[in-house]
Amino acid sequence: MKKYALVTGGSRGLGRAICQMFAQRNIPVLINYQTNQQAAEEVRDSIIACGGEADLLQFNVGNEEEVSRALDAWEQAHPDDYIAYLVNNAGIRRDNVLFMMPEQDWHDVINTSLNGFYYVTRKLLPKMMMRKHGGRIVNMASLSGIKGMPGQTNYSAAKAALIGATKALAQEVASRNVTVNAVAPGFIETDMTKDLPQEQLKDLVPMKRFGKPAEVAALVGFICSEEASYITGEVISINGGLYT
Ligand code: NAP
Repeated sequence: MKKYALVTGGSRGLGRAICQMFAQRNIPVLINYQTNQQAAEEVRDSIIACGGEADLLQFNVGNEEEVSRALDAWEQAHPDDYIAYLVNNAGIRRDNVLFMMPEQDWHDVINTSLNGFYYVTRKLLPKMMMRKHGGRIVNMASLSGIKGMPGQTNYSAAKAALIGATKALAQEVASRNVTVNAVAPGFIETDMTKDLPQEQLKDLVPMKRFGKPAEVAALVGFICSEEASYITGEVISINGGLYT
């Protein structure tokens, strides 16, 4: 029996660093992505080159049919294994002030972060709860979901909802040895933040810099470790001191 990690949005940014972190801990990784196959292949190849185990699992987290099809096929091909570590990391930004926000941008952001969490987690939970080793679920929230950010009502709403879901689910599954926590990064250097005025924004951060994906991955690694087995229902900020 092998315990796998599934990282949604594992092809780039935080997800890529999280995939590499699992591989360094000798945990086989499933790299989910939506469209950027080349980036996902690069992550897989970098892991294999270092002696790790990784496979690609393409699906749109916000499409229930795609999620079910991909995960059913994986489970059929791996009857003795299970996904013990789930990182719901896939997310998008579509920033705008609310009065000008197109309906599609509202729905797309919520669909990816919140419905994506629901579709993937609901599918994997039964196996996690049945196994005596249990599991770890980490939801990628954001400072925006704690504080609320102007120009991001869709994103703040999605991430705040994800935090609520984290706290509720943690209580549902705690007795089955499954922990559920959220990570709330501030500004981290990835494709998602590359269009932001970094010079201006880093002045707001007490540490005077953006965070690195590897720093977030290290936190996720700790939450997924044996040592963190009594931590559940928490939202852990990682933001260089940029509190609300
Ligand atoms: P990123 O660099 O833009 O990467 C996004 C990843 O999500 C890509 O792998 C992308 O896949 C995948 N993805 C997007 N929509 C998807 C969908 N519908 N189905 C499956 N995969 C999908 O973003 P990031 O900065 O690493 O952010 C990762 C997570 O951290 C997000 O949830 C984000 O909200 C959160 N976060 C980021 C920051 C930050 O400062 N960067 C701060 C707070 C929270 P493709 O490669 O196929 O497009």
